[in-house]
Amino acid sequence: MSERSEVRSQMSRRTVILRSVGGAATAAAMVFVKPRPAAAKMAPAGAAYQDTPKGDQQCSNCSLFQAPSACQLVDGTISPSGWCKYWVKKAG
Ligand code: SF4
Repeated sequence: MSERSEVRSQMSRRTVILRSVGGAATAAAMVFVKPRPAAAKMAPAGAAYQDTPKGDQQCSNCSLFQAPSACQLVDGTISPSGWCKYWVKKAG
């Protein structure tokens, strides 16, 4: 084998190895990329949640309320007529 073809052969082997390593690294990265867990909700007591409205403010007219009985921010069963200190007026 001539010196030139020996160099080509070595470069070809190196290319194959580097591509394999690159592919393995990509596969490994795909295995270790996990979806982010949903943010934890706040405890009702931490939000000063109560089962009754505060004036005309209540969960059913809060933008964070998720009918029929949940909230994007506060954990647990949320009454449509409840209220907490993070109440935000529902648009519309
Ligand atoms: S007032 Fe809004 S933020 Fe507070 S518990 Fe009710 S829906 Fe959630």
